[in-house]
Amino acid sequence: MLKLRAVPLSVLLTIMCAATALAAPPPKLVLAIVVDQFRYDYLTRFRSDYHAGFDRLLTKGAVFTNARYEHYPTVTAVGHSTFLSGATPSMSGIVGNEWYDRETGKVVASVSDDSVKLLGAGGEGASPRRMLVDTVGDELKMARSGSKVIGISLKDRSAILPAGHMADGAYWFDPRAGSFVSSTFYFAELPAWVAAYNASRPADRFRGAHWLDRTLPSDTSVYAALEGSPYGNELVESFAERAIQAEKLGQRNVTDLLAVSFSANDYVGHAAGPDSPEVKEVSIQTDRAFGKLFGFLDGAVGMSNVLVILTADHGVAPVPEVNAARRMPGGRMPSGVVRKAVEAALIDKYGAGQWILSPSDVAFYFNRELIRQKKLDAAEVERTAADAARQVAHVFRAYTAEMLLHGTVDLEVGRRVMNGFYAPRSPDLYVLLEPYWLYGSKGTTHSTTFSYDAHVPVIFMGPGIKAGRFNQQISVNDVAPTLATYLDLETPAGSVGRCLSEILF
Ligand SMILES: [Zn+2]
Repeated sequence: MLKLRAVPLSVLLTIMCAATALAAPPPKLVLAIVVDQFRYDYLTRFRSDYHAGFDRLLTKGAVFTNARYEHYPTVTAVGHSTFLSGATPSMSGIVGNEWYDRETGKVVASVSDDSVKLLGAGGEGASPRRMLVDTVGDELKMARSGSKVIGISLKDRSAILPAGHMADGAYWFDPRAGSFVSSTFYFAELPAWVAAYNASRPADRFRGAHWLDRTLPSDTSVYAALEGSPYGNELVESFAERAIQAEKLGQRNVTDLLAVSFSANDYVGHAAGPDSPEVKEVSIQTDRAFGKLFGFLDGAVGMSNVLVILTADHGVAPVPEVNAARRMPGGRMPSGVVRKAVEAALIDKYGAGQWILSPSDVAFYFNRELIRQKKLDAAEVERTAADAARQVAHVFRAYTAEMLLHGTVDLEVGRRVMNGFYAPRSPDLYVLLEPYWLYGSKGTTHSTTFSYDAHVPVIFMGPGIKAGRFNQQISVNDVAPTLATYLDLETPAGSVGRCLSEILF
């Protein structure tokens, strides 16, 4: 025992994880699920209405009740890049859904890539090239010959980022074409089974479909509209079934990985908010979609051979008016207020000029050329701007690049903003609002480090996993190293999490 105590705890945990992983037979399929915008409390608040997929996960899985994201901003691209890489944005370089690119002077998206073409529709392609780190899928591809890795979602970033660089394909929905598309990053043309699936016009069956008191359009505008309805998830589920069938996922005596992200919940949630009947309904329909997928896998692969992992990419804030009515704090911040205060302070102190290059109210990129011309100290300019921002009502924190680079920040919020900071892409100043305050004149949104945005489900279910309720605080960054250990793979390069050895036999 004395000798054992001399071994660092992290080493011990790794050894324990490795030993248990070797004992368990490898699963035929890893099904890695993300629900886009799904707060942890959607599992508990709607529990009695779940009788299918969520019910199965909650009764047969290892359920983490206190999993959260440890980065800012809690948005789609960042959550999805964290999920199977274990990396924070400071490691992955995926610092937002989009960011201002100083080199080109343009806002770029997390997966935008003008060197590749879209397949299945016109327009610019997309790829994982901006992600600096790898995923468990990449480790699987490097270690095992024959393993396939595929990503599927309505959104490009949600299909691409969890799948990784070596994926056999990532597919997302194009609402203009009404079909699933990909890019030349993966192959020269869409696989025949994808073309055949699209030719059957699978989205057309939702023309005029009803949910709650709503009716989807009966013309081609149904393609965009179905994304914001439970039918968006139904469509993704049906495409996932087709992928499993066509690619023989989990049916070839190797371990395959299928990452599926369900985005309809996010579109519904932004418009209606977490307390709405719409969010309850789309959650219940998501439970049914998962039930259908698990039922299909029972037949195709056998669920006893499938490891399922479920999480969400972020939560969401209550609608400010709903909060106001129940005497809770918060409100709507008019756009431009912080920006004008910052701009005025910089002009007042350093003279006229276009000081702010980026369009955001939250992430400020300053004009470094102007700072050089005027022979100013960039850090001092940042401090002037931050001080001005802090004077604005309902500004909670202001972090300069200098503070984030040197770690001179508070532990509660600043540490998480540091985790989200990658200097070549991140802004010179981040300005965060008080809890429950948000920009935008209607609906609601997410991005903060507060629990309503950061607390999400993490559930593992399958062979070698101990079922039960696990109340310890974990981070979503722990998923990737746990999965890598479970599969006996190298840990993805940027992983900062720990192996959740408590759930492994
Ligand atoms: Zn999202």
